[in-house]
Amino acid sequence: MARFLPEVAFSHSSADDLQLLPLRFERLGADRYFLANMVGDGLLLSSDELNRVISLELAAGDGLYERAFSKLLVSRKGQRSQLQLLALRLRSRMAFLREATALHLFVVTLRCEHSCPYCQVSRRSADRERYDMSEETAMRALDVALSAPPQAIKIEFQGGEPLLNFELIRAIVEEAERRRGSLGKAIQFVITTNLALLTDDVLVFCRDHSIQISTSLDGPADLHNRNRPRPGGNSHALAVAGIHRVREALGKDSLGALMTTTEASLDRVEDIVDEYVRLGLDGVFLRPLSPYGFAIKTKQFAKYDANRWLRFYERGLRYIIDLNKRGIHFPEFYSALLLKRMLTDRPMGYVDLRSPAGIGLGALVYNYDGKVFASDEGRMLAEMGDRTFELGDLATDTYRSLIMSDKLVGLVSGSMTQCAPQCSTCAYEPHCGADPVYHHATQADSLGIKPLSGFCTRQKGIMRLLFELLEGSPEDAAVLRRWAA
Ligand code: SF4
Repeated sequence: MARFLPEVAFSHSSADDLQLLPLRFERLGADRYFLANMVGDGLLLSSDELNRVISLELAAGDGLYERAFSKLLVSRKGQRSQLQLLALRLRSRMAFLREATALHLFVVTLRCEHSCPYCQVSRRSADRERYDMSEETAMRALDVALSAPPQAIKIEFQGGEPLLNFELIRAIVEEAERRRGSLGKAIQFVITTNLALLTDDVLVFCRDHSIQISTSLDGPADLHNRNRPRPGGNSHALAVAGIHRVREALGKDSLGALMTTTEASLDRVEDIVDEYVRLGLDGVFLRPLSPYGFAIKTKQFAKYDANRWLRFYERGLRYIIDLNKRGIHFPEFYSALLLKRMLTDRPMGYVDLRSPAGIGLGALVYNYDGKVFASDEGRMLAEMGDRTFELGDLATDTYRSLIMSDKLVGLVSGSMTQCAPQCSTCAYEPHCGADPVYHHATQADSLGIKPLSGFCTRQKGIMRLLFELLEGSPEDAAVLRRWAA
């Protein structure tokens, strides 16, 4: 007796035996399409191949049948395993929803000694009384942060320049450490600083309390100093000296740097990357300007559009990939984030690439004056007079009242890409994010009209580039796959 059915029983000659699984597609060129399943795995196809998949004109052994099956684009009728697999993968990708509000930002002062024209937080130069967070406010913020559900939270000190109010940072860290044992929480601390006011005292405290440092570096000295003026014109020298001192005192992995792209940066991407490599930094995050604070007031934000920035980004990414191919492990961090979305089912930690949006659910911001915001960009908007993303006040609110507020629930549910016009039919949606603050700031609509959105143009441009690179030269694809590991 035969133990297996004959081969013909496993092949399909008729579309009647097959069904399409949920899918979306994007036209990339005259005869080129990106076809993606509901978790964003995709195929690059010609229009003829796309039509064959859509009309199920597929047969075992023809190559396209196997590709469409392996990417969970089609299944046999009545077969539930592919749908179950898709559901499991979707649940894994959305697991960030189980860990609400792991990030807590304390704006310990709005004062700063730099005067960057692109400053997004509308820093102030004086008036300690008015623009520094008080200890009473800080302790109430800590109560809220420690009552958030995650076992592991991150407390990040922001400004202005937070080292201008270092004694408050010291008090918050010591109190948090005193309380974390009884709460069973792990707390990671980060100070975001321009490093100009770094002292040995600060370094010793950071070393003793495992505090990490995040700083700003816009590129080589001439570009950095032009973007980031301060009295003495020595921002770059102080930042570089600070980077060396931090790494010496706290270890190489204790410091990260972020750059911001101004119009003056657009022709300098290789110089910027070379400066990061020269200083031994472990990668670069090529970031566009955001539409908040002085970046709007000084018209910096309007000086280039999303397409000009994309050309800068693509040039930089190709340059960085070539460095990696020469043996220098050096990721571009935004691509690395997207590649993790595209190549794995791990939940997204980065709050700006989530839907439901990361506002409130991913991060809360405690402002120097006691107001609580759903995101850092939300408090930046408030400094411009728009309080849309203000959730409450530390004097009266609790973690629960902030997170369950009608305002936050309304803002989150009203911005979801899964059901937004344009996004809901976009092939890149599983890897994208809702950015309600950006869309509110630029279009007065937190959902956003995506064909007019600079965020959407950049997202589509980068994801398309990454898919093309993954399908292109095996050496380029190998570099990108390493970044997602
Ligand atoms: S924002 Fe743009 S790229 Fe992102 S899901 Fe929506 S339409 Fe797609």
